[in-house]
Amino acid sequence: SFRALVVETNQADVSAQVRELTDDQLPSGEVMVDVLYSTVNYKDALCLLPGGGGLVRSYPHVPGIDFAGVVHSSTDARYQAGDRVVLTGWRVGESHWGGLSQRARVSADWLVPLPEALSAQQAMAVGTAGVAAMLAIVALENQGLEKADGSVLVTGAAGGVGSIATAVLSQLGYQVAAVTGRRELTGYLHDLGATSVIDRSELSATIKKPLESERWSGCVDAVGGTMLARVLGQMKYGASVAAVGLAGGADLPTSVIPFLLRGVNLLGIDSVMQPYAKRLTVWQRLATDLPLQQLDAMTQIVSLAEVPKIASQVLKGKVQGRVVVDVNAS
Ligand code: NAP
Repeated sequence: SFRALVVETNQADVSAQVRELTDDQLPSGEVMVDVLYSTVNYKDALCLLPGGGGLVRSYPHVPGIDFAGVVHSSTDARYQAGDRVVLTGWRVGESHWGGLSQRARVSADWLVPLPEALSAQQAMAVGTAGVAAMLAIVALENQGLEKADGSVLVTGAAGGVGSIATAVLSQLGYQVAAVTGRRELTGYLHDLGATSVIDRSELSATIKKPLESERWSGCVDAVGGTMLARVLGQMKYGASVAAVGLAGGADLPTSVIPFLLRGVNLLGIDSVMQPYAKRLTVWQRLATDLPLQQLDAMTQIVSLAEVPKIASQVLKGKVQGRVVVDVNAS
């Protein structure tokens, strides 16, 4: 048997507890993985809410939208016992049992071999948030982002996506303006490489003017909502915003003016359904462009039993950087 965080529901109420499970309870799939680490992402926090945050289909449920570990057994020729693997997305941890467990069984198509340069723990310090941050940076690069064009804005900077985006952009030589609602984390953001730190209140208010002075050469946006609307009006001519998240809201109360008068681009980022080849590229880029010292500095490690407490902090926007779950810790 093995241990997993199991979410159960009783009418409007949900509870999440560490329970003993057996292999025959796992969903079907070609590859059985001994999970070493998983994480607590924003989506994981949603999955622990009543109604499963609209993401979970049936109960009992094992959450965990990403994991890293070692193949235990495989009926697919691409993977053998002992291979180091990582998984993000594919609705694992939502419609399929996930990684907050010592064991997972998944489709071989969903796995990616773990790059040599990363340990399983580092891979989960990256996790879904890091994959999304890197996809956003690649999208901005493909759109012509240049270091000489000025500062790149990162919103929700002290969160998971924002911390990794800040560290990678800075490592690549960009000037990074980090937006945070937590002024006390200014030192942390500078240590990750932010060149300036901007108070959330400066960008969260709605204003009537569709355009302001041109400020940003690019933006990785984890917040959405009124902040994204405001940022669109501050982008430099022809610049792009990568929309990654909705920590501040799913609405986008904007007009088409920034697109028509400044040629601003809004790039959609999805990490869940990315094809295999793109995933490999993104993990390789993360292995080379994310400074591991910074990654360690933004990571805290918790046990399975601590996940519900951390999840509620995530929903309050109180977690700093990345939370890695050591599924074998007691
Ligand atoms: P997180 O660690 O909770 O970080 C979110 C950050 O946003 C917070 O730390 C906070 O940063 C800021 N924030 C929170 N509430 C806010 C508000 N009301 N207004 C303005 N800023 C607010 O979450 P994450 O893992 O980085 O994920 C960020 C977002 O990206 C989530 O919406 C998540 O679902 C999404 N996401 C999308 C993909 C994809 O494939 N597109 C993948 C991963 C994540 P400060 O304290 O610094 O202000």
